[in-house]
Amino acid sequence: MTDVRAELEAVRDELRAELAELTAVPRDPVGAVSFGKRVGEGTSQAVERIAQVDAARRLDAKLRDVERALVKLEEGTYGVCDGCGVRIAPERLEAIPWAVRCVRCAAAR
Ligand SMILES: [Zn+2]
Repeated sequence: MTDVRAELEAVRDELRAELAELTAVPRDPVGAVSFGKRVGEGTSQAVERIAQVDAARRLDAKLRDVERALVKLEEGTYGVCDGCGVRIAPERLEAIPWAVRCVRCAAAR
């Protein structure tokens, strides 16, 4: 049997590092929007920023699940759905070790 806790902790640390990188705003002493730049530049930067925010949001949601799964390991409820209390399918847990809801509840979210 693989050590789920160690795996989850590794995933958690990885996610935290990724999030820290994504949310780190590069300091621009002149200001993010400076005049005299071509319009296209500012737009592509804005688009990139939106993509980053989107990625950060997804990573954050996953991090929450991973942290919750670790708490469930602690509580002894790991593998039991947070939504309806049913046992999460072993195949699902194998594919997604941080799954804290069964397929049905996860889809209903
Ligand atoms: Zn459920």
